[in-house]
Amino acid sequence: MSAILNDAQGRLADQIDAVLPQTQCKQCEYPDCRRYAEAMAVGEAAINQCPPGGEEGIAKLARITGHPIIPLNPAHGVTQPFALAVIDEAVCIGCTLCIQACPVDAILGAAKQMHTVIASECTGCELCIAPCPVDCITMELAAAPPPERADHWRARHRFHLFRVERDKRERAERLKAKALAKLDDPQFQAPDKQAKIQAALARAAARQAESAPALEPTVDPKALARQEKLREILARAAARRGPPAGETDHEDE
Ligand code: SF4
Ligand code: SF4
Ligand code: SF4
Repeated sequence: MSAILNDAQGRLADQIDAVLPQTQCKQCEYPDCRRYAEAMAVGEAAINQCPPGGEEGIAKLARITGHPIIPLNPAHGVTQPFALAVIDEAVCIGCTLCIQACPVDAILGAAKQMHTVIASECTGCELCIAPCPVDCITMELAAAPPPERADHWRARHRFHLFRVERDKRERAERLKAKALAKLDDPQFQAPDKQAKIQAALARAAARQAESAPALEPTVDPKALARQEKLREILARAAARRGPPAGETDHEDE
């Protein structure tokens, strides 16, 4: 959740966010660029915590905040040349962990299918590398993107946050509907089964209560529609293949 800022701090956070690289890599130790911008706006964070922004970024932040220029804090990493994630599709086992880690939804794939990175969307944040259980993601040097790419990544990340919350709400709704359908089913009237159904209803209610209000996505709606369509096609293809032997439905666990 974003920090609560007064009007002046909000305007300052907007100015700061506008010059951050929007890699969304978390090296600043904040969950994303916007959160780091807000922390600087309230005086909680220093201006030298963003390796992708490097010295040039620190100079811009110094101008905006009025703080003196200081060197990049090495505790947050070093500035590296731009690189894109590449998946070795022959090794990928389709576990989807990289998709869950990607802050800009730059990875396409479905459960048990090979995954691939949309190179034009990848920010080079490297967040997909650590979760991969078979180490099939590597970073490959690429031409530095034009500065305006940052605005696109900001919008992609904003849509990602919107999608994650939407998916959470939809999962909670499905769990609730499934539990309600079983509540009056004669097959589920034994006390232990009823207790499990009530527990599932309580979990669904808790998930709905936890869900943050959805941000409005600001990315091009046509591009989003194309990507959603592609996701649907991949999900339908995965569904046709059916769950592998031994796979269980985790939604109501
Ligand atoms: S690019 Fe990475 S380190 Fe820089 S502000 Fe954004 S999330 Fe933080
Ligand atoms: S594909 Fe990997 S490196 Fe590229 S943006 Fe997504 S998580 Fe970051
Ligand atoms: S985390 Fe690795 S194995 Fe899993 S889907 Fe992504 S690339 Fe494939």
